[in-house]
Parts: sequence; C-alpha cells; structure tokens
Amino acid sequence: MNPPSGPRPGGYVGRFAPSPTGDLHLGSLYTATGAYLDARSHQGRFLLRIDDLDRPRERPGAADRILRTLEAFGFAWDGPVVQQSARAAAHGRALAALRALERLYPCDCTRRERALGVGAYPGTCRHRREPIRGPHALRVRVDPIEIDIDDRIQGRWRRNLAATGDFIVQRRDGIVAYPLAVVVDDAALGVTDVVRGADLLDSTPAQRFLQTLLSLPTPRYAHLPVLTEPDGAKLAKSRRSVPLDARIAGPQLATVFDLLGLAPPAGLARARIEELWAWGVAHWNAQQVPRRPNLPLPAPTAAPLGPAG
Ligand code: GLU
Repeated sequence: MNPPSGPRPGGYVGRFAPSPTGDLHLGSLYTATGAYLDARSHQGRFLLRIDDLDRPRERPGAADRILRTLEAFGFAWDGPVVQQSARAAAHGRALAALRALERLYPCDCTRRERALGVGAYPGTCRHRREPIRGPHALRVRVDPIEIDIDDRIQGRWRRNLAATGDFIVQRRDGIVAYPLAVVVDDAALGVTDVVRGADLLDSTPAQRFLQTLLSLPTPRYAHLPVLTEPDGAKLAKSRRSVPLDARIAGPQLATVFDLLGLAPPAGLARARIEELWAWGVAHWNAQQVPRRPNLPLPAPTAAPLGPAG
C-alpha cells in the first residue's frame, strides 16, 4: 500500500507512541495495528513517536528494536520518528504556562504517604504554607468539574476531576510526567485522532483538562481494549505475551485483525504482508472493535499465535 505523503490540511493525523521500556508484544501489535488501520482507512497520516522520557525505565536498544519490528510487520510511517526526549523546550514552556496560571504547586509527599489515602491524591500539599526545599514533584490544581469523553470505541463516559485529583506534571526526579508530555506533543504534531490502549482511559480526563488550560485542541479518542491472558491477568512474557516474530508476521497480524473484530478469512494469514494490510485497511471499522477495556486472548489451542502456540 502507498501511504499518503505530505500533510493534508484538516485531514486525519494519527500516531503510535510506544515507550521503549521493552520489546513490542502481541498487545502492542494490537494497539499499533488499530491505530494504523484507523489512520490509513481515513487516508490519514500516521506518525511514530518514541515516548522516551522515562529514562530510568528505558531498556537499552528497545527503541531500535521497536522500529525494526514495526518495519518487519509492514508498518510505514510518515515523516521522521519523533523522540519525546527532544521536546524538552516545549514541555518546559507548557510548565511555565501552567505556573503563570497559578495552577502548579510543589509536592513532596512520598509514595507511601500517598498510598495511605484511598483513590485520588487528597491534596495534602495544596494548602501547605511552609516552603518545600527538598526534592519535590509539581502538581496541577484541578477544579471539581465534570469531564465528558466521547470515545469512538468505549462510548460516552463522564468523570469528575475530583476523582482524578491534583495530578503530577513533573516528577520528583525532574522528568515531565506523561499526561503533560502527551498533550503537548500530540498538539505539536497536529494529531487529530488518538487510538491507544484502554489502560490510558483513566489518564484521559487529566489530559482533557490540560488541553483546556493550555488552549490546545482536543483530538478524537478511540481506546482499544487491552489484551490480557485468557484468565484476565496482564500479558506476561512467562505465559502468553507472545513475542512478535517477523517470520510469522502474517499469522500474528491475522490474529490481531481477528481480535480487532475484522473477521479475516481463513487464508489471509498466509498472504503477503502488503495484502494483509490492504485487506485490513479495506475492512477496518472501529465500530467492530470489542467495546470493552480488556480483551482476554482465546485459550491456548484456539489461535495460531506462534510456532510454539
Ligand atoms: N507511551 C505510552 C505507552 O507506551 C502511550 C502514549 C499514548 O498513546 O498516549 O503506554
């Protein structure tokens, strides 16, 4: 397939934004494939961003291996790969804007202290009078307002920001936190459509709030279910996280199509990778994706996931 080249004013811009904290597995292929098919079926652009801010959690070589795996599976992205770590100036400007709005406050609560509270951060440091001198995070002061989210897959839902609580935008170690980096970078890239895993649903109200504070556009959202083990447990390497294997890219992609609700014909797994993508783009329909936050993999004998099954 020929990816469209060049920006299309007003057109669809999607992205896949893996963190280089490990190799891609079947669950990441699922997310990447949903994002890719949605972009290409809208004749949209598809961008690739490596979300590499969390250096302590980064695995050496993972970013390169992610790119190679995506290439081997036939993904083609538009423009250069964006590295989130190169965007520090823009993140700094966003923090400055939040500070100017008097929305930031320092917080030196430890993880242990926070864990004592149930649910949202109780706002312990919000009203502190004495200055904080030691290492601290920066939190955004939220308003207790309702945020409505109209998700293309998960449907409409509403969350009061009080349930999110004042959230961290810069960690104690100085690293800009995910919700801030993602809204700043998606806006700078002109992303119109965010298609990603439902593990990030919970962070979406905070992201919507930041977009409002920073006068950034809100993209459309589509949260794909997160693949789990047949018993609902998180995918784990020791069990069936199923490492991606370029030698069986066709069968693995066909499996993912099936789990995305595409109902691929039996022979498709053996087709050339370009044919698989052409078929996927022609048949993609976000409405057919299971409307649930988690999707257990079928029991081991049911799916042709790899040579070892
Ligand atoms: N980098 C995030 C992750 O790998 C995804 C960011 C996003 O899609 O908003 O979980």
